[in-house]
Amino acid sequence: MKAALNAEIDHRKEKFKALQSALAERMNDIPLSGIREIFEMSQAIPDVIRLEFGEPDFDTPKHIKEAAYDALREGATKYTSSFGIPELRVAIAEKMRNENKVKCDWNNVVITTGATSALSLAVLTTMNPKSEILIPNPGWANYVPIARIGGAVPIGYSLSEKDDFQLDVDALEKLITPKTRMILINSPSNPTGAVLKEDQLKAVGELSVKHDLIILTDEVYEKFIYDNEQHFSIASYPQFHDRVITVNSFSKTYAMTGWRLGYAVAPEEMAEAIGRLNGSTNSCAAAMTQFAALHALRASQGCVTEMVGAFARRRKIVLEGLSELPRISCPVPKGAFYAFVNISNTGYHSKELSMKFLTEGHVATVPGVAFGSQGEGYIRLAYTSSEENLKIAVSRMGKVLRS
Ligand code: PLP
Repeated sequence: MKAALNAEIDHRKEKFKALQSALAERMNDIPLSGIREIFEMSQAIPDVIRLEFGEPDFDTPKHIKEAAYDALREGATKYTSSFGIPELRVAIAEKMRNENKVKCDWNNVVITTGATSALSLAVLTTMNPKSEILIPNPGWANYVPIARIGGAVPIGYSLSEKDDFQLDVDALEKLITPKTRMILINSPSNPTGAVLKEDQLKAVGELSVKHDLIILTDEVYEKFIYDNEQHFSIASYPQFHDRVITVNSFSKTYAMTGWRLGYAVAPEEMAEAIGRLNGSTNSCAAAMTQFAALHALRASQGCVTEMVGAFARRRKIVLEGLSELPRISCPVPKGAFYAFVNISNTGYHSKELSMKFLTEGHVATVPGVAFGSQGEGYIRLAYTSSEENLKIAVSRMGKVLRS
């Protein structure tokens, strides 16, 4: 099976290369996603346990779906403002003030098609050609292409297990050049699960003031927090507030990945630019989705608590299971729904071991190197599967490691 899968990868790479010749040069900067690659290969394995995708396996709560049906029935089938429907912008501003302690009003909020689009728009509206953006390494794989499509240059800052994947602010400062214009932070982190401490956020904020930088903060996992850890929004500190673009989404919090709804909260002139550009690139987020999101925010948050509770139980199962396996270790993730497993003592590169887990153990994981060079030596498991599946997956991984 391994030979067949390798042949399939080679075939895809060749095909990819051939197709590239017809495309614009910028497409050379957009790699095949490492996650997609694993997914495609796993299609041939019927009993595979999927731990590669970063999306809740739960369905969107019923009351949110009902709100979308209602919105459709009531005629939410047209374009909306490219900034989003006013009711949702008001509700998000209220949420940001009450929960995140961020001073803002509805004109600071722009509704986008997911956090992905909010991040792209934020980069496109603030970066000049060749401006440098500091991005986490390891970090969510889309940060690099998002920076490059925006004409900017992504510069990775290393996150390391010895620092609990917190920032090394001195090292970060050394990467700043006259071209640096933005620092991107992501807490809780994909893929490490680290939650940035308050003193770290303040240190980054001070750096941004000292060097006159914009902070782009990706907070899509804000609700997935464990062990009494706390999520802080860097925009809540008044001394940094005016230079922060906060990005968030309904994708993870409400299990709404396919609905494509996110938002940016930014100082007014940036929000105005983001909305304007949204108008010429996406028009607007889907109307019925916006009404469903409004309902998600206004209704009881019990569904979120329930889902996070389920992830907390799964996390415990995964961490306990992994602790029994030979030659690997797993730093305790305080947030998101990922285990970033240290495999450096197995003698395998992350791609090799991930492939072994797939072909021999029938468990789909993502090689850490898909998240940047500093992800080598790790593989990422998303515990987005049932408790039973997670137990089986860990046991299969154990068999592979012992074989
Ligand atoms: N930011 C991070 C860190 C993510 O992991 C993801 C999705 O996996 C996103 C943003 C994208 O979120 P959305 O579905 O809202 O575009």
